[in-house]
Amino acid sequence: MMNTQYAAYTNSTRRRWLQALASTPLVPTLTAPALADVATKTKAHIVIAGSGLGGIAVANRLSKLLDGAKITIIDRKEEHNYQPGYTLVASGVWPVSKVRDRNADFLPAGIEWVKDMVASFDPAANTVSTVSGQRIRYDFLVVGIGVYLDYAQITGMDISAIGREGLTSVYPSPEAAQATWATMQAFAAKGGNAVMTLPSTPLKCAGAPLKMTFMLRDRLFKAGTLGTSKIRFESALGNVFGVKAVNDNVLGRWRDLGIDVDFSRKLTAIDIGARRATFAFPDGQTQEMPYDFIHVVPPTRAPDAVKNSELAWKDGPFATGGWLEVDKRTLQHRRFPNVFGIGDINGTPRGKTAATVKKSAPLVAHNLVEVIAGRVANENFDGYTSCPLITREGSAMLIEFDYEGNLTPTLPMIEPLQDSFFAWLMKVRMLKPAYISVLKGRV
Ligand SMILES: Cc1cc2nc3c(=O)[nH]c(=O)nc-3n(C[C@H](O)[C@H](O)[C@H](O)COP(=O)(O)OP(=O)(O)OC[C@H]3O[C@@H](n4cnc5c(N)ncnc54)[C@H](O)[C@@H]3O)c2cc1C
Repeated sequence: MMNTQYAAYTNSTRRRWLQALASTPLVPTLTAPALADVATKTKAHIVIAGSGLGGIAVANRLSKLLDGAKITIIDRKEEHNYQPGYTLVASGVWPVSKVRDRNADFLPAGIEWVKDMVASFDPAANTVSTVSGQRIRYDFLVVGIGVYLDYAQITGMDISAIGREGLTSVYPSPEAAQATWATMQAFAAKGGNAVMTLPSTPLKCAGAPLKMTFMLRDRLFKAGTLGTSKIRFESALGNVFGVKAVNDNVLGRWRDLGIDVDFSRKLTAIDIGARRATFAFPDGQTQEMPYDFIHVVPPTRAPDAVKNSELAWKDGPFATGGWLEVDKRTLQHRRFPNVFGIGDINGTPRGKTAATVKKSAPLVAHNLVEVIAGRVANENFDGYTSCPLITREGSAMLIEFDYEGNLTPTLPMIEPLQDSFFAWLMKVRMLKPAYISVLKGRV
């Protein structure tokens, strides 16, 4: 079915798509990036905390923009995971091997890789300390340590049990995504009661819980068990997505698909063996809900190393999660100007997606080079965030928006709130190569 539709694209249609694609922030530009012709000479020592998408993307760009700098990256993780592929693994579209690569293959030549974790930051002394006791001094620091998945806030939750007793969660790892798919398949074979959850905290890829819901419904439909099944989506918020136009669109689709939604219900406890979840209401009352299948989405916060440091927001909406206190436009720390943030760790409105890193990593590298050269950070980020929201196998909506929640479509032929086969193709075929280009600092 998919191949027939793909073949139906004429050459001229393909050409028009490619021209349009070249201009979107989502996919790599087809020509070489306009990096500075002359690298800035410096003896500065730059430490990058975290070797996820953001850390490595900035490392690669800095290594091209600077001449003579010492760059150190700190992270003990050796496997590189393409997290945007987790929902495809968890819904049986991709094999797990497609989300597994090696960090060593993406790091720039000449970088020092400290295979350790940052235990604490001391920005007043320009040092970081690692779990194994090293103290590393820096001139400039880039923080890219992502989010902490706080499953411990759900009493009884055990991520090692994902894949048993109808328990699923796409977030923690490729293994969890794989186990989620095995469980989804077993559930779809028989049908029953499914409960999908959404916490009230910021999330990386806030669309992932919605994608899992759409795909579960699609799998039940294809297995012929939809008629004997019920899907309930339990949101701890007053919505299911923070951008109103998207929220209304998804709720309308779910109404048509027979997916029920409850608001202001926070998952607080789970009895895995008994297949029973407990939800709390704002007035403190609780309700137990039995299920055959549950998808648990963890609350998130900043990892302890940032949360407990001087680098975290001390007041305002991002203080509770301990997120990094950066200026939302320049991504420079608001109190320590030799510190920048990249990716999910940033305490900014929205912006926890790989697409955000695609657009902001060049800006962070540029602004940092300006500061190294004694000038001011002069490029401004608009908060670009994107979420290819899969609605069933073979169809997706390409949602792009900014800090203010304005829809900012970059592909003229794609209606943001209209699902299409082309948006699906982008998700399953084009966005991983785009991600790898971002990692390598090519875009
Ligand atoms: C299920 C799922 C679906 C997603 N779908 C999409 C999508 O469709 N589109 C999209 O654009 N994005 C999607 N994302 C989000 C995207 O993967 C992230 O936004 C992106 O990876 C952010 O990059 P990052 O570098 O900030 O964090 P990460 O890539 O998570 O990297 C953080 C790194 O920091 C390291 N670290 C943590 N603590 C420390 C410490 N104390 N010291 C040193 N290192 C540390 C970790 O080991 C890790 O390597 C999805 C994510 C998930 C989980």
